[in-house]
Amino acid sequence: MPPSYPSDAPASEALFARAKTVVPGGVNSPVRAFRSVGGTPRFITSARGAYLIDADGREYVDLIGSWGPMILGHTHPEVLAAVTDAASRGFSYGTPSENEVALAEEIVARVEPVEHVRLVSSGTEATMSALRLARGLTGRSRVVKFAGCYHGHVDALLAAAGSGVATFGLPDSAGVPSSAAAETIVLPYNDIAALEAVFAADGEHIAAVITEAAPGNMGVVPPAPGFTEALRRVTRDHGALLISDEVMTGFRCSRSGWYGLEGPYAAGAPDLFTFGKVMGGGFPAAAFGGPAALMAALAPDGPVYQAGTLSGNPVATAAGLATLQRCTPEVYAHIDAAAHTIADAAAAALSAAGVPHTVQWAGSMFSIFFCEGLVRDYDDAKRTSAPAYAAFFHAMLAQGVHLPPSAYEVWFVSAAHDAAAVDRILAALPAAASAASD
Ligand code: PLP
Repeated sequence: MPPSYPSDAPASEALFARAKTVVPGGVNSPVRAFRSVGGTPRFITSARGAYLIDADGREYVDLIGSWGPMILGHTHPEVLAAVTDAASRGFSYGTPSENEVALAEEIVARVEPVEHVRLVSSGTEATMSALRLARGLTGRSRVVKFAGCYHGHVDALLAAAGSGVATFGLPDSAGVPSSAAAETIVLPYNDIAALEAVFAADGEHIAAVITEAAPGNMGVVPPAPGFTEALRRVTRDHGALLISDEVMTGFRCSRSGWYGLEGPYAAGAPDLFTFGKVMGGGFPAAAFGGPAALMAALAPDGPVYQAGTLSGNPVATAAGLATLQRCTPEVYAHIDAAAHTIADAAAAALSAAGVPHTVQWAGSMFSIFFCEGLVRDYDDAKRTSAPAYAAFFHAMLAQGVHLPPSAYEVWFVSAAHDAAAVDRILAALPAAASAASD
């Protein structure tokens, strides 16, 4: 149990109490509940630029960024205009519309191996559908995933799933039938020998390896040099597909996501990619894609069924398109610089306070582990001190900086984190570091 933190947020407390009478745990996604850091989640009434305003009228510099999508900051005026325009012309048609094509074109133009994309409404749907497609294409049932990688709450992929699940210390979820889990092989991340051994023993039954392109759900744990190459080589040699989950990294790490930083690979590109978060600009839009020849196995052209009432929703696609079009080189350079300023200052404050820590990066995505030494996999990540993070988190919150309420999360920086917002974060760090040292 985390210590109880006094809250000066009476309106949020009242809303949380009310929520708990009608919503399980009072939240619609578990990590929002503050369970691992203790205290009361802030109920947000509005968000603009780099700031959130809570129900008590308190302003916070936001480093959650809706867990990734808000790369331009909140309520970007041009994205808002695109959304308002789209909404004024209808909320959902259930028939094709041009923005779906334009968003698909934008993704295809950015991620070179992706020729065709299918739009869905969440990252979970994207990975679930990519997995079905891989199984349909190969006629095989098993799937390899890595401990600490989160791919949404797909039954087969919830084993050792990092982030939210790690936050709660659950090995995996109740309600996942053993038949679904039995087809999932969980390996330690960054362990090429373990991968080769599994394929040597069972390769003919494995449909796919799915990996976060650069994991951000056990904190940031980038692939060691050569690891992604090895995934590609081993899967190709055994006729299995490689699914690169870029739901978090896509269009954030670079205009072409993690693939734009690390690819192309000598052994070849991943077969399928999944996207979400940034490409929806804060609205429910996600996608999976790959070469046209593979994607042709999807209905209506092929035998693998996949569908969605709200897939390619006109308002969501307008938001996503407007967001991606504004993810310019300047935006990426700004986020990179701001992230480095914040991470360097946090590391300096923690060092000054004598708090063990390690900062890890994947492009401009970073997280801070409250432990010493390189973190290469989920077992390493679990060394992070949850109590130290909780103390740090609450000291930041009390000073008006809202970090993710999870020790295993990326600190999401946006284009709207200007000098004033960054300065407010920097000013809060020493007291938070000192709280973490107690
Ligand atoms: N894949 C990755 C890498 C993610 O980080 C997430 C969400 O955090 C998902 C998939 C699931 O996306 P969603 O929450 O939109 O279902």
